[in-house]
Amino acid sequence: MSATAITRTGTHSTAYLQLPGGWFHNNAGWITGERHTLLVDTCATEGRSRALLEAALGPEPKTSLTAVLTHAHGDHSHGARQVVEQDGAVYAADSAVEEIHAGPHTYPELFEYADWGSIDPPEHITPVTGRTTVDLGGTRAEIHPVPTRAHTDGDLVIHHPDDGVVFTGDLLFHGVTPLALHGSVAGWLEALDWLESFRAETLVPGHGPVVSHADSALAQQREYLRWLLDSTTEALPDFAALEERARRGWPEWHDAERHSVNLRVAHAENRDHTPDIADAIAAMLGAAGNRIPLEL
Ligand SMILES: [Zn+2]
Repeated sequence: MSATAITRTGTHSTAYLQLPGGWFHNNAGWITGERHTLLVDTCATEGRSRALLEAALGPEPKTSLTAVLTHAHGDHSHGARQVVEQDGAVYAADSAVEEIHAGPHTYPELFEYADWGSIDPPEHITPVTGRTTVDLGGTRAEIHPVPTRAHTDGDLVIHHPDDGVVFTGDLLFHGVTPLALHGSVAGWLEALDWLESFRAETLVPGHGPVVSHADSALAQQREYLRWLLDSTTEALPDFAALEERARRGWPEWHDAERHSVNLRVAHAENRDHTPDIADAIAAMLGAAGNRIPLEL
């Protein structure tokens, strides 16, 4: 079961958390100025995205709306159509726009779920190609493309300097196993250094509870990604033994079946190969025991 928690992260910014943050239970949020609301991400289903929009705007919206999608994954992007239906504009990284338009991606081979609602992507999504400042009226938000391939090849973070908050998208997972299926482990490590350079007081991760700068979530994730690369340098690693070590090393993280994918992505990177996504997914299904049921 998941629970939604709405947490103020400053005068203008609010985190919308779907805890504990497992498969398709992503975080979103919004930053509100005098004239404009910047929504950060949407949710996996039409119903959840509608609930998010209502929480962000209230029953009678007083501001205009823009949504920034931190990346193409469906949990963060499936509500883009609802934003456009509320006369909002939608922004995403250049390569994420292409990926979103190729969707919606619901991965029926991986997940048992059918009730997505209306999640077809809207016709127009504006690509973000560089750092972009959005004037919200009395305060500004900044959209930053992540400089490396990290969680995906089209990640954005949103910085609100007045509140000292960064919405990290899936650059950061908190209490949930990160997923490197569509990204790069080495690039992700670099991106975490870049993320630290914002020196934000508060980080809203893509999944899991809000992180204060004193928390160890970022250090833990760095340690994990480093371990993935360091433990998969052999030509034929014992993946089953490594998965077991990962489960023991990070026992509190949800969705441990992702270790099997992450290890294979890291192994491919160590050998300069493109990861075999089908093989990685088959390994994850093996680790999960079956198709993964979703409760959305
Ligand atoms: Zn993601």
